[in-house]
Amino acid sequence: HAEMALYRAKGMGRNNVQFYLDELQAGAEEKLRLEDGLRIAIVNREFELHFQPQVNGQGRMIGAEALLRWRHPEMGNIPPSIFIPVAEEAGIIHSIGSWVLDDAVAKLASWLNTDVPYAGHLSVNVSAWQFARVDFVEQVRKVLEKYQVSPERLMLEVTETALLYDFDQTVSKLRELRELGVQISLDDFGTGYSSLAYLKDLPLDELKIDKAFIDEMLLNQDHTLVESIMAIGGCMKLKVIAEGVESAMQRDALLNLGCTQFQGYLFSKPLPEIEFLKWVTLQQSELNDK
Ligand code: C2E
Ligand code: MG
Ligand code: MG
Ligand code: MG
Repeated sequence: HAEMALYRAKGMGRNNVQFYLDELQAGAEEKLRLEDGLRIAIVNREFELHFQPQVNGQGRMIGAEALLRWRHPEMGNIPPSIFIPVAEEAGIIHSIGSWVLDDAVAKLASWLNTDVPYAGHLSVNVSAWQFARVDFVEQVRKVLEKYQVSPERLMLEVTETALLYDFDQTVSKLRELRELGVQISLDDFGTGYSSLAYLKDLPLDELKIDKAFIDEMLLNQDHTLVESIMAIGGCMKLKVIAEGVESAMQRDALLNLGCTQFQGYLFSKPLPEIEFLKWVTLQQSELNDK
């Protein structure tokens, strides 16, 4: 089954693994294969972080998000939406998450130590399981110390599910992280089930509006949800960023609603480090030319 699907996917070209992945959903055998692959992916150096810029209303860089990429030696590129859940289920998200945090902060430190005009923070996604670990805050503190990066430069993206699991623990962990100086963003905001009663007690810095609501703005001309999120962000004195912004129309509609921070293909796709640093340098010189 797996071999067959893989064979057919290869025939469709290197990047077109969608067909294979569709079939993959079904098979437990394939999941085991992914699990095995994930267990050795770190030592085999198959992981790589890509970086997607975040910009303000003037197009100026305000930060970036690190996004994990995995190239399996035979299966090719496998998207995180497929392998992260497998890693979580198999209980191997911890080592992967630690690798991500270490590599992201190492890269950030190296950019800040050179003349790359890097601006703002670097956001790193944190799995619910990773966040739930008792030593998570300690891990973050250690990695910042290891690379001598100032904590404000690091933003952690957590999801509602991650935060609601053990609410008291969550609140105290978030407090500790913010005492360190690290920023916290609530990723995919609006897609979870957290009530506003919970939300108001969470020490956060940013709400990240899920792409689904940004899509809604174009598809159905429906701004209601984004408008509500902007209001919530305003009341709670949080920054609000929109993810998955693909068109100028979306950006302008967001600007009209008071949202001034963006991430999406309109500005740049997630890029490998070298390309990303070119983007950073180029946008800086373009803005200076204006
Ligand atoms: P996310 O954190 O919500 O990341 C945003 C996703 O939207 C990324 O997909 C990004 O490539 C994609 N994206 C950004 N702008 C656009 C756009 O304009 N249009 C479209 N169509 N897509 C856009 P990606 O990289 O495939 O990651 C998917 C999810 O996998 C992430 O969602 C995150 O939940 C998870 N993930 C990625 N890297 C990591 C990681 O290092 N650790 C953990 N725990 N999860 C990760
Ligand atoms: Mg994210
Ligand atoms: Mg997101
Ligand atoms: Mg999302």
